[in-house]
Amino acid sequence: MIKENLEKIRESIGKVSQKVNRSINDITLIAVSKTYPVSDIEQAIALGCRDFGENRVQELIDKIDKVDTPVNWHLIGNLQTNKVKYLIGKTKLIHSVDSIKLVQEIQKQSIKKGILTDVLLEVNVGRETSKHGILIEETMEYVKQISGLSHVRMKGLMTVAPYVENPEENRQIFRQLYDLSVDIQKQKLNNISTGVLSMGMSNDYEIAIEEGATMIRVGTNIFGDRNYTYSK
Ligand SMILES: *Cc1c(COP(=O)(O)O)cnc(C)c1O
Repeated sequence: MIKENLEKIRESIGKVSQKVNRSINDITLIAVSKTYPVSDIEQAIALGCRDFGENRVQELIDKIDKVDTPVNWHLIGNLQTNKVKYLIGKTKLIHSVDSIKLVQEIQKQSIKKGILTDVLLEVNVGRETSKHGILIEETMEYVKQISGLSHVRMKGLMTVAPYVENPEENRQIFRQLYDLSVDIQKQKLNNISTGVLSMGMSNDYEIAIEEGATMIRVGTNIFGDRNYTYSK
């Protein structure tokens, strides 16, 4: 099943990127493996996946221990400040930075380990009260704060779009995140790049690619329905 699913998604990524004149090499498919067993991750690795997204620190660390092949791990879910110390040094990218306290803790733990940690700012473009992320109008303030840090490097922006029946409805959301990244880039701040746009999930990744996504986060369409319990 995973094999057929991946073939379908790769084909559609190819089609959509061609349609909007983008190279498929500029789009990273993150297989969102939260709640799925390690055996599913290993299957996906055998089929060429090298980027995996998880949204809980504990589950992520457990899976990192169990998966032998070196792959890129992405933390895409909300990160609590007290969990940062377990995570630092283990991720390719933390997608969910949405508070100054959090970014300061990432800086502190990265200094301790002597490493540079790459992050994205999570923006709540749709202004949903149920969602994490900062608001568009707050973004520049955060970017300036991160710019001054020695061990945290901003690589771009992330958003979780609203759940909609028709993915077209999220086009405006993705476009706003893209526009915001252009505005940030114009500031030419130290330590700040906007090359990464993490947006689009199973339901709407094609629209996200059309609007400039460089990372799409796809779970259900690869691994099937989630049952929301991961047991070690
Ligand atoms: C679960 C999750 C996804 C993947 O969602 P699907 O609809 O299963 O593709 C993407 N991004 C985040 C932040 C998630 O928590």
